[in-house]
Amino acid sequence: MAKNWKSRTLAVHGGTVRSDFAETSEALFLNSGFTYQSAEAAEARFAADDPGFVYSRFANPTVRMFEERMMAIDGAGDARATGTGMAAVAGALFSQLQSGDHIVAARALFGSSLYILNTLMPRFGIKVTLVDGVDLEQWRSAMRLRTKLVFLETPTNPKLEVIDIAAVAEIAHGGGAKLIVDNVFATPLLQRPFELGADVVVYSATKHIDGQGRCLGGIILGDKKYIAKACHDYLKHTGPSLSPFNAWVMLKGLETLDVRVRQMQENAAAMAEVLDGHGAVKRVIYPGLANHPQAEIVKRQMSGGGPMLAVELNGGKRAAFAFSNALELILISNNLGDSKSLITHPATTTHQSVDKKERAKLGISGGMLRISAGLEDPADLAADIAHALGSV
Ligand SMILES: *Cc1c(COP(=O)(O)O)cnc(C)c1O
Repeated sequence: MAKNWKSRTLAVHGGTVRSDFAETSEALFLNSGFTYQSAEAAEARFAADDPGFVYSRFANPTVRMFEERMMAIDGAGDARATGTGMAAVAGALFSQLQSGDHIVAARALFGSSLYILNTLMPRFGIKVTLVDGVDLEQWRSAMRLRTKLVFLETPTNPKLEVIDIAAVAEIAHGGGAKLIVDNVFATPLLQRPFELGADVVVYSATKHIDGQGRCLGGIILGDKKYIAKACHDYLKHTGPSLSPFNAWVMLKGLETLDVRVRQMQENAAAMAEVLDGHGAVKRVIYPGLANHPQAEIVKRQMSGGGPMLAVELNGGKRAAFAFSNALELILISNNLGDSKSLITHPATTTHQSVDKKERAKLGISGGMLRISAGLEDPADLAADIAHALGSV
């Protein structure tokens, strides 16, 4: 594999291994097990003297192609794919922690990630401190002697705040901790966490990598030492493996990721423009706008505003519901990263189970809506937004 190829090229060709038939598109190895020429060969494979495949819970040729392609795009030493994004988040955390350890994380996280930190971690004697991710002083003062991991997501869900990855990496490393970045909202093409100091990067491949609302999937990327041992053993023995079929869909998704994300980004900007400054709108939060609160950091660490935006309407929940219900093209869904543009009311859906006080701290008000830009014509999306604004 030519190491100097750019990400867009690697997204099409990275990790491809051809069978003896020399097929163009990646082969789908839809098998759970593998056979051996002899008992001796089986023994050697289990002793890892022979690097071949053993069982698809551990590794599978199609899944491995997806892992290798993601490693090439992200610049990681190794990777393991998982059945969902949450399996990747949980795996990256549990494979590195033990009772007595401490983790510092940004408060603004995907709802299920918060559940792991707030509910599951304490059950195993793991202490958690949540901070306001954009306040570096809070990261600094949260660090303790037993802080093993630092975890963040940027841009955040659903408020699209942008956290300074390089600065937090420095704080984490200064305290002897590793930094995990959930890079879903930026996609691997618009933000490169490893180059900014991250040690582990996780994705829900369900989102922009598949990008067409078909399959669930996830992946954990990191250095060879962590991935091949602690991460591999954790996943191998607990079993949240990605199915070969879904890995094949993800490989096909990666081939078009760049063209899709660029169109989504253009569409997000078009929607942000219609919303920005409208009388019914309190504020638009889009990393591509000059008025974004962390515009300086966006410039440094992202190569575009991305496919996601949030808007806060003046009229609270009532206005947010009226706006959502008046849309004719943009669909109401809690999902994101689909070719169809989707809108979510986080306070009553994705973050409904987060208690009220915590929700207020996150800035998730009744008037807030999150929009995931799809692949429609930007003029149609802008018209849909303008029409719905008229009914608020
Ligand atoms: C969707 C999502 C997840 C979870 O991924 P699943 O594939 O739904 O399990 C984690 N983090 C972020 C930022 C997400 O958007």
